[in-house]
Amino acid sequence: MSIDKCTFNEAKRLVRELVSAKGFPNNESALTQKLLWAFVELGEAADAYKKGESWDVISEELIDAIFYILDFIGLVEKTQGIEIDVDRLFLEKWRKNMERPRQYGQKRDIK
Ligand SMILES: [Mg+2]
Repeated sequence: MSIDKCTFNEAKRLVRELVSAKGFPNNESALTQKLLWAFVELGEAADAYKKGESWDVISEELIDAIFYILDFIGLVEKTQGIEIDVDRLFLEKWRKNMERPRQYGQKRDIK
């Protein structure tokens, strides 16, 4: 099966498939490290940007962060027996943010 487009929910399922296929940690005790690795990947993206790497390299690090975030959410679903509709949550949050004032939450500029 070849996939060239997917939703957040489909991506979440694909990441969980990868975790299972590659034998990555896959139980409740792994939840904290999934979040930690997401931060690490953001750090890798920032470092790649700082070093003038290509946009492809920087973007791939950001995708790594998304992998870990979706991995975390999928593992929460599995271990807590709940469903988390990432597509719905994204759209709800987008609508909520769109209703906020201009530059909401930004009191100071970072120079
Ligand atoms: Mg990486």
